[in-house]
Amino acid sequence: MSDHRELYQETILDHSRSPRNKHAMPDANHHADGYNRLCGDKLSLYLKIENGVIEDISFIGEGCAISTASASLMTETLKGKRLEDVSPLFEKFHNMVAGSVEKIDDEEMLGKLLVFSGVREFPVRVKCATLAWHTLQAALKDNSKTVSTE
Ligand code: ZN
Repeated sequence: MSDHRELYQETILDHSRSPRNKHAMPDANHHADGYNRLCGDKLSLYLKIENGVIEDISFIGEGCAISTASASLMTETLKGKRLEDVSPLFEKFHNMVAGSVEKIDDEEMLGKLLVFSGVREFPVRVKCATLAWHTLQAALKDNSKTVSTE
């Protein structure tokens, strides 16, 4: 685990400095805004969903390194995924960062998202890491109002 830590840290830094899929999407059919008042992270999420598949997903916003990297890695992970795969993945991710399970299972399913496994040691950062995912849930419900991680 600690062998991975440096690599995880590098991946988070890389995604926070050069976020993937960071742009607005004028023809999105789902959209939501998220705000983490604890840290000040702001996020707008855009999705294009066709026949139950996330054809495209992007975000814009300003936030700390963790929230930006999380949005970047989430969009990268979810592009091309079926909608029914989103909730199980979010559940695994949330259990990992919130530390509600002793042992992280389904490492294969989490893939690159494992870089956030260290967040569980910093409870104040959990909301930074999960902001993109909470905003995603709002976007999938087509809820246009700003979600709060409170
Ligand atoms: Zn933050």
